[in-house]
Amino acid sequence: MWKRFWKFVARRLRVLGTIRGDQARVGISVSFGGPVDKPEFTPNFSFNDMTWTSNRELRQKNRDEAKNYKKALFDLAITLEGLRTVTGLPIIVYSAFRCPALNGSTAGSSKTSQHMKGEAADIGYDGMNTRPDRDELFNKILKHFVENGVSWGQLIKEEANRSYGKAFWIHLSLGEPYREAYRCNQVLEAKDGVYKFIKAIQHRR
Ligand SMILES: [Zn+2]
Repeated sequence: MWKRFWKFVARRLRVLGTIRGDQARVGISVSFGGPVDKPEFTPNFSFNDMTWTSNRELRQKNRDEAKNYKKALFDLAITLEGLRTVTGLPIIVYSAFRCPALNGSTAGSSKTSQHMKGEAADIGYDGMNTRPDRDELFNKILKHFVENGVSWGQLIKEEANRSYGKAFWIHLSLGEPYREAYRCNQVLEAKDGVYKFIKAIQHRR
């Protein structure tokens, strides 16, 4: 009896442990009854990862509104899963989908941000803030896109001062068909919300 019970629990147990920037998040979810919930888009990126926010008041609202942008979020998750493999770095999402209310309360965010359509993600990996070779991820992603003719929207190397020190992350957005071709394959840098256009890549056709 107990053996069967624990087997039942084990099948419905998900241990969620993620480090986001300086915040550690560990949770356990168990669902009883009904089919086993499978929220994953890809092995490493779930709908919950793509809609997470540290803003507790807006977290549920953000997830509810994100349901209208599942196609873009799924394409974004596929892109990130591929980049995890290609770069060999354990990429995590700090912030992907942002509903207008959340975007409005995010420092330095654009009013036309692709984050609001589920087409952009701010990414990094655990410990990137303190790594002297933190540009490795950015460089590897750009190299992969250029060498393989992969189209994207914007790739931005970002840094900003936070209460805990300097924060570094990469903003990556989807290209066509989500973004007009002439505005794709852009490389930028941003420091404390000031953006600097570096270049746009022309893929050979
Ligand atoms: Zn961003």
